[in-house]
Amino acid sequence: MSVFDALRRPEHTGENRCLPCTAVNAVLVVLVGLALGVLWPPIGAVVIAVGTLLVYLRGYVVPGTPSFAPKLVSAVGLDGIFGHREDDAAARQSDSLDANVDPDVMLSTLLNAGVLVEEPDGLFLTDEAREEWESAMATLRTASDEELADAVASAVPFEATVTPDFGGLAIEGPAMSVWLSRPQAIADVATLDTVVERDVDPMVALAATEPMRMFTEVCPECGGVVEETTTRNCCGGTAGLHDSPEHEILGCVDCGAVVYEFREE
Ligand SMILES: [Zn+2]
Repeated sequence: MSVFDALRRPEHTGENRCLPCTAVNAVLVVLVGLALGVLWPPIGAVVIAVGTLLVYLRGYVVPGTPSFAPKLVSAVGLDGIFGHREDDAAARQSDSLDANVDPDVMLSTLLNAGVLVEEPDGLFLTDEAREEWESAMATLRTASDEELADAVASAVPFEATVTPDFGGLAIEGPAMSVWLSRPQAIADVATLDTVVERDVDPMVALAATEPMRMFTEVCPECGGVVEETTTRNCCGGTAGLHDSPEHEILGCVDCGAVVYEFREE
């Protein structure tokens, strides 16, 4: 292992590199180097050289950069050039369609309706429910944002105004105002269709939409493979909404869609 490898922080570099963090640090390194260089030029040159190398290897050198650099870049109106604008769908966290249903009631209802099956090693979707759920997702996948908005409006068990917004869907109902990413909206509509089809109370089906996302194996958005991974991007993903910039998700290996976010204990 070389000294460079020891210094390297892959979680903040390569494809995980945060451009606002890198840019802010590069500017700070140069400013500090120039300031010191006024006093003693060789020191200034060393600070710039070492600082730049560390930013390259580690993503940033100023402690706490991920917590302030994206905000700073955003505050001065430069976030557009880094592709991390606030209205970027990837930077938003999808909400859930919540219903006031006892989780135990929901679970027993889904078991009785043949949506879920309890095996010695846990809960699973029944083969039949998975087939219907995935085929509903495959159909919805081809829908335009407007068509998907209509599908959400007719699937939810309440009067809702659904409009394409920020690359996903904004849902305004009498009791909730939520934003769903496109992949999660596709999964949720497919859940509502599949579960209500089995004579389940639509409010229970609504409550099942978020837990059902946990069983996703095929990406709702592109049909790619979904697997457990972590979000490591310190300013994209869901940073700012979570204390930890890195948390467990179910995500698509092909298109990067976040399908389910595991709650932090
Ligand atoms: Zn995908």
